[in-house]
This record gives sequence, C-alpha cells and structure tokens, in this order.
Amino acid sequence: MIYILLGLPGAGKGTQGELLSQKLGIPRVSTGDILREAVRKGTPLGRKAKEAMERGELVSDDIVIGIVEDKLKSEECAKGCILDGFPRNLAQAEALEKMGLELRAIYIEVPEEEVVKRLSARRVCPNCGAVYNLLTSPPKQNGVCDRCGAVLVQREDDREEVVRERIRVYREQTEPIVEFYRGKGILEVVDGVGSPREVFSRIQRVA
Ligand code: AMP
Repeated sequence: MIYILLGLPGAGKGTQGELLSQKLGIPRVSTGDILREAVRKGTPLGRKAKEAMERGELVSDDIVIGIVEDKLKSEECAKGCILDGFPRNLAQAEALEKMGLELRAIYIEVPEEEVVKRLSARRVCPNCGAVYNLLTSPPKQNGVCDRCGAVLVQREDDREEVVRERIRVYREQTEPIVEFYRGKGILEVVDGVGSPREVFSRIQRVA
C-alpha cells in the first residue's frame, strides 16, 4: 500500500509521516528531503532543483517523477511507503496512477493562518534532519539540536515571503489533486489542528 499525505506546507505531513512510518514499518519518502539533500551536496540533481526551491516553486515534473519511480521500485519500498510531498500536481498524480500501485490518500486539513504561524516557528537540524517548533516543541537548549548538538537553522523557504508563494502554488497546483483522489474514493480527510499525538490518533483511525 502506498499512502499519500496531502496538505498545505506546514500541515504536519513530515511529522505524521514519520509516526506512520514507525507504526507501519514502511519508509517515508519525502521528495522535499531528497531534493534538499541533493542541493546540500551540490549534485547535478541539486543544481537543477535549487533555484525553483529557493523561490518556493515546483521542481520540474520529470525530475521528481523520476525520483519517485526509482524509490517505488527499490527494495526498501517493497512493502509500500508513505509519500510526503508527492504528488504535487495533476501530472504527477497521473504518473503515479500509471505505476499501478494500490493507493490511499490522507488529507491533513489545517487553516492557512495556522500553517504560516507554524512555518515561521519551524527550525531544523542541518546535520540530522530533526525538526522543532519554537512554540510547541522547542529544543531543550535554545538553538541546539537535542539529538546531535548541531546549531539549528530556519529552512530558506520558511521565510515569510517564500511561504506565501508556496501556499499560492499549493492552492493552484496541489489542491486539485485532493478532488482527484476524492473522486476515486480513496481520500480520507483528517483534522490537522492539535498536538502531533492527537492528529496521529485521528490518522490511525483511517489509515
Ligand atoms: P517540501 O519539503 O515538501 O515542502 O518541499 C520543498 C520544496 O521542494 C518545494 O517547495 C518544491 O520546490 C520542491 N518539491 C518537493 N516535492 C516536490 C514535488 N513533488 N514536485 C515539485 N517540487 C517539489
């Protein structure tokens, strides 16, 4: 089974995807994480993706579809996986359909004001990838990762003007796929407001 997590940037797809991954014993595949890692390492993929990501726009479909196809064929996804950040538009959703896998989509619904608040308070560890929120789940020591001790940073695209663009792109390109999956009868909608545990218990009821 391939689970697709949908929702605005900051709706909690990463956090919930990790919890679901642990619960089901299948990996979480985040196209955003894969692309950020490629940018950090300066690979050819990273060089192609960097500019669009910095502007909050989508990276081209052929690049991300290729990444996901390779992942879904790999041994680690043999029992399925949780897709976080893919598909992001109808062309990507159609490409995923063509792979002929069993799909289930979970839409994590959070109001726009709430995601803007969450993203401006989000800090990440550039070393181990841990994610914090200065308001709801701060690190024990100010600015320092609990897990590995590295100095926390704000994602470039979590700056307010880029967040506004990401939300605009989401509304225009990603939101239509919620209806696409609803029409196929494989969509579950979950209220994403509340603590990560509260939201996860709602997800468990439908996953
Ligand atoms: P995320 O971590 O999911 O918020 O993704 C961060 C950025 O990576 C996005 O703003 C896009 O620039 C790029 N990205 C991630 N997933 C995709 C995708 N499926 N299609 C196109 N661009 C993507």
